[in-house]
Amino acid sequence: MLIKTVKGTKDIMPNQVYRWHYVEKLFRNIAERYGYKEIRTPLFEYTELFSRGVGDTTDIVQKEMYTFNDNKGRSLSLKPEGTASAVRAFLENKIYAEPQPTKLYYETSCYRYEEPQSGRQREFHQFGVEIFGAESMLADAEIISLADEFLKECGIEELKLRINSVGCPSCREKYKSALRDYFRPHLSKLCDTCKVRFERNPMRIIDCKSPQDKELALGAPSILNYLCDDCKASFDELKENLDTLGIEYEIDPTIVRGLDYYTKTAFEFVTEKIGAQGTVCGGGRYDNLMYEIGEQDVPGVGFGLGIERLLLLMENCGVEIPEPDGMDALIVVLGEEARTIGLKLTNELRQKGLKVEMDLMERNIKGQMKHADRLGVRYAVVIGDDEILNGEAQVRDMRISEQKSVPFHRLYEELSK
Ligand code: ATP
Ligand code: MG
Repeated sequence: MLIKTVKGTKDIMPNQVYRWHYVEKLFRNIAERYGYKEIRTPLFEYTELFSRGVGDTTDIVQKEMYTFNDNKGRSLSLKPEGTASAVRAFLENKIYAEPQPTKLYYETSCYRYEEPQSGRQREFHQFGVEIFGAESMLADAEIISLADEFLKECGIEELKLRINSVGCPSCREKYKSALRDYFRPHLSKLCDTCKVRFERNPMRIIDCKSPQDKELALGAPSILNYLCDDCKASFDELKENLDTLGIEYEIDPTIVRGLDYYTKTAFEFVTEKIGAQGTVCGGGRYDNLMYEIGEQDVPGVGFGLGIERLLLLMENCGVEIPEPDGMDALIVVLGEEARTIGLKLTNELRQKGLKVEMDLMERNIKGQMKHADRLGVRYAVVIGDDEILNGEAQVRDMRISEQKSVPFHRLYEELSK
C-alpha cells in the first residue's frame, strides 16, 4: 500500500512553493529593514525547555507536544513554537553580555498534536520576531508595527488588531482571586479542563474554546480593572505609541496568557475570513521568561505568525501572487553531434545566468518541441546537421512563433534580450 503523509502534515508541492517564497521574501525584507537578524535553532530540544518556557499547565505542553525518548533515554520534544528556543540560544551563547537590545527573526516549522482542520495542522510554520533586553513599550509598538506593515505588504487589509495587558505577577494575584470568586458558583458547568484550570491557572478559563465556558467568561471581571500603576502606565504608553504610528486597535481583555512569565502586552491579529481558526498572528511580552529558563533578568517581547493561515487568508482575499518567470530556452537537438554541441551550449548559457533546459528524455524533434511548449520556454533553440554546418542555430520565439538563424557565439546575446 502507498505510504501517505502523516495526519496533519502537508507537502508543499513545487506548484505552490512560489507562494511561500513570496511571503518569505517579504518577511525577510521587512525584518531586516526593522533591524532584526535571523536566527535558526534546532527542530528539537530537551523537553524541559518547553515545559519551563511554554509552561507545563498549558495545553501545548500537556496535550500537544511530540515528545519521545532518544536512545539514551533523554526526553526530547519537537518545537511547538519558536520563542523558547530563541531564548535558550540567547542564554546559551551569552548574548545578554553584549549591548542590548537583541532583535531576532526566524521562520520555523512547529509541531502540535491537535485535531487537523482548516488552518490547523500538526506540522505548521511560523514567522516570528523577538526583542530581548528592551523594557520600553517602544519595543512592543515596534513588533506590532512590523506585523501590521508586513500583513499590509502581503496585500491584506482586513485583519483586526486586538490588544490587552495581562499585568504582572503582582497584579495578577488579585485578579486571579477575583476570577475564582466569579467562576466558583459556576464551577460544575465548566468543562473538565477548566475545572483543573480553576485552581492552577484560572486566567486560562477565559481562553477556553468550549462554547459554554466562553459564554460564562463573558461576564468575568476584566484584568484591566486590576492592573497595578506600573502595568497601567505601560499599557497607556503602548496605546499612545500605536496612536502615534496610526495603527488601529481594539482593546480585548479576553486575550490572556495565563502564565507567570507573560507580562503586560498581549495582542492578536484576527480575521473572520478563514473560518474558526482566525488568529493569524499572536504575541506579547514575557519579562520573566528568561529568568524561568536561565535565571537572567532580561525582558522580552515577540510574536508568532502562522504562515499557512496567512497564505489561506491571502487566497481568500484574492491576493494575486505573481508566478515565477519560466525558462528562457530549451535546446532542441537532432542527432548525435547536435547532442554534444547542445550539451555544451546548455552548460555555457547556464553559466552565464540564463535559465536553460535540454530534453533529458532524448525525444525526437516533435517531442522536444512539445516539451518546449509544456515548459513554457521563451525560445526553442534548434540544432541539427545543417545548423552545425553553418555554425548557427534556429531560434524560435515561442510567443510569436517566429524563427531566425543565430550564430552559436551570439546565442547568449540573442536569448538574453
Ligand atoms: P490557536 O488559537 O489557533 O490555537 P495559539 O494561541 O495556539 O492559536 P500561538 O501559540 O500564539 O497560537 O501561535 C501563533 C500562531 O501560529 C497562531 O496565531 C496561528 O497563526 C499559528 N498556529 C498555531 N497553531 C497552529 C496549528 N496547529 N496549525 C496552523 N497554525 C497554527
Ligand atoms: Mg492552539
